[in-house]
Amino acid sequence: MLGPVILAASRSDRMRRLVSATPVTRPVVDRFIPGETVDDIVPIIRSLTDQGLELTMDVVGEDITTPAQAEAARDAYLELIDRLGPLDLGTRAEMSVKLSMFGQALDGGHELALKNVRPVVEAAAEAGTTVTLDAEDHTTLDSMFAIHEELRKDFPQTGCVIQAYLFRTEADARRLADSGSRVRLVKGAYKEPAEVAYQQRHEIDKAYVRVLRTLMEGEGYPMIGSHDPRLISIAQELARTAGRKLDEYEFQMLYGIRGDEHLRLAAEGHRMRVYTAYGTDWYGYFMRRLAEKPANLRFFARSMVSKG
Ligand SMILES: Cc1cc2nc3c(=O)[nH]c(=O)nc-3n(C[C@H](O)[C@H](O)[C@H](O)COP(=O)(O)OP(=O)(O)OC[C@H]3O[C@@H](n4cnc5c(N)ncnc54)[C@H](O)[C@@H]3O)c2cc1C
Repeated sequence: MLGPVILAASRSDRMRRLVSATPVTRPVVDRFIPGETVDDIVPIIRSLTDQGLELTMDVVGEDITTPAQAEAARDAYLELIDRLGPLDLGTRAEMSVKLSMFGQALDGGHELALKNVRPVVEAAAEAGTTVTLDAEDHTTLDSMFAIHEELRKDFPQTGCVIQAYLFRTEADARRLADSGSRVRLVKGAYKEPAEVAYQQRHEIDKAYVRVLRTLMEGEGYPMIGSHDPRLISIAQELARTAGRKLDEYEFQMLYGIRGDEHLRLAAEGHRMRVYTAYGTDWYGYFMRRLAEKPANLRFFARSMVSKG
């Protein structure tokens, strides 16, 4: 029951100010968001790639309120791509972006987000890598899929995310699989109403398997975004049945969660990509990580009590 409460708090400005200003928060945040600047993150990128892992980089920030902030988001990604150049990682380091951070919720937001994200996709392509559009709450998805389709006309490798908890996702998966797209499948991290989304874990897991089968049997490139051991074995089985080779799909997990499993899958020869977030506006991202596992919240609360 704690998860939905934390997700509601993740949208509260009062909670944002309270949690962000608490000095003891930072060590707990570091587990999931291991840096605030490009200088902090480059050594982490080196260390992860040296261990045979691949990355998808997220500059944290969402719910922005001005066009200038959207441009700052674009520039932060451009700076990152520029700094990655000398590391020559190609597709081993791709970008994940949230369109809300590029202005999607502002006036004229759809066009604004497309205008701001395009230079990032172009710069990524020039650097030999690509971009994946994260999935946010369900009200943003028609715009996200339209931007994805538009970008794919020039940059077919642009990926997007679909969420197993949404009823719409099976149809989205069929369309994306038919069009040969790169697609990350996740369970879904937002608080969604029963009119649009499964609410029970077992229903979400069953939907995940149905959608994953569609992706594996389709023309695209499936990216399995989950830490769930049962879904990971099912994914391996579905890939085998669909006759996919090891480089025809990949696993993705979040930095700070099940690190041993990242290394185990990479050692088995799988492509294993770690979603690595950094930046100063970490509140929304951090609260979703707390909501996914209430034990994280207890750990966070204990560290506040013991150090505060
Ligand atoms: C690479 C990647 C990208 C993502 N992108 C998006 C996106 O664009 N949109 C979106 O809505 N969601 C996204 N998510 C989040 C996703 O929707 C889930 O909320 C999250 O992955 C937890 O679900 P799970 O599949 O890991 O399964 P769960 O059943 O939640 O977790 C399985 C096991 O993993 C471990 N675990 C999971 N989460 C945590 C945590 N926070 N802290 C500690 N341990 C944990 C626990 O051991 C747990 O038992 C992404 C997830 C990944 C891995």
